[in-house]
Amino acid sequence: MSENKRRRIAVLGSTGSIGTQTLDVVRRHPDKLEIVALACGTRAEELLAQARAFGVCHLALGDERLASAPVSGELCSYVEAASRTEGTIGFGAQAVADLVQLPEVDVVVNASVGEAGLRASYETLAAGKVLALANKESLVVGGDLIMPLAAQVDAARRERGDAPSFGPAGALMPIDSEHGAIYQCLIGESEREVARLWVTASGGPFRGRTRDELLRVTAADALKHPTWNMGAKITIDSSTLMNKGLEVIEAHHLFAMPYERISVVVQPQSAIHSMVEFSDGSVKAHLGTTDMRIPIQYALSYPERWDAPVQPLDFTQLGSLEFAPADTDTFRCLALARHAGQTGGTLPCVMNAANEVAVASFLGNGIGYLDIASCVEAAMDAHEKDGVQRVESIAQLEELDRWARSVARLWVQEHGR
Ligand code: MG
Repeated sequence: MSENKRRRIAVLGSTGSIGTQTLDVVRRHPDKLEIVALACGTRAEELLAQARAFGVCHLALGDERLASAPVSGELCSYVEAASRTEGTIGFGAQAVADLVQLPEVDVVVNASVGEAGLRASYETLAAGKVLALANKESLVVGGDLIMPLAAQVDAARRERGDAPSFGPAGALMPIDSEHGAIYQCLIGESEREVARLWVTASGGPFRGRTRDELLRVTAADALKHPTWNMGAKITIDSSTLMNKGLEVIEAHHLFAMPYERISVVVQPQSAIHSMVEFSDGSVKAHLGTTDMRIPIQYALSYPERWDAPVQPLDFTQLGSLEFAPADTDTFRCLALARHAGQTGGTLPCVMNAANEVAVASFLGNGIGYLDIASCVEAAMDAHEKDGVQRVESIAQLEELDRWARSVARLWVQEHGR
């Protein structure tokens, strides 16, 4: 990519936490970045405001029921008025996935929530574009499909001269703080000399609690995350350590690392975003302010670094850094995710779908906090009895996702309040 060409970005999930922070990064670097397409699930008014602010005329709403809502009329007339050439507006999952195909899109920031993001990730790479990935499910559920595609795009980028002369070719840029940290620690290193990845965890708001103490935890308690400011689903996942489990599976795919060489360590201050240990015992750690705009920006600036919109860490004020093992007896979701990852195939898909149902039910006061892990485990058990399959297609994963959701819903009905 030439030096003076702006990177043209499609943001999927633009009204969520990562989406709005991505727009913040773009606002600070208008000479380097440009938003050309925006998609969100349901928040049409916010989407319209974003489109106006950034002059974007390719829009999509994931929820197709909104096609007949009054705000859609407003969106349509906006697109018509704003686009000198041909603007587009679409409704439904396919309309969101269609945005990534637009010829004017160079990079797709996939910050959509849940399993719905997988198809968009797949189509982004299939179209030969750069994927800046915040949607965890893409790799957790579809890593076996996504990584070979990313390798193809990397090879094409090298051939075209679009890849940096040093380090990874950059077709798949992780936006998660942990994976962004590991990505940076690995630059310039030889794969053979990497001994272990250390994924750090804040431990969530319930670190140090016993199972008994967690019995009566409410959604409001779980939504108070100590160090990171995120959406509701991921905040609950952080509190159960399912989020860390998903990140271990992501790390396995992203860095082609066997599970026995990926460790989780609790680092309550979240100052260390992750670490890489090498064969000579040396460890590289990535530290920084806990602000998602930094990993978002790095995913968009790679291989460069740009000025950051945040206060740098002041080590003289940091105090002590603590480390502790994760308590997988209390926070069983982490152990379940490791088991799903190690088993591989379609088991992570089932685990992820059941977890989405369980978390939604917990947020709606349908089941208790500890029931989240039990519900996930029940769905995983059922799938293992049926037989875990090799991952072959998006359609297969979507079908299994639906099956796992129905199993989890049934579990919720039987065990819920
Ligand atoms: Mg993370």
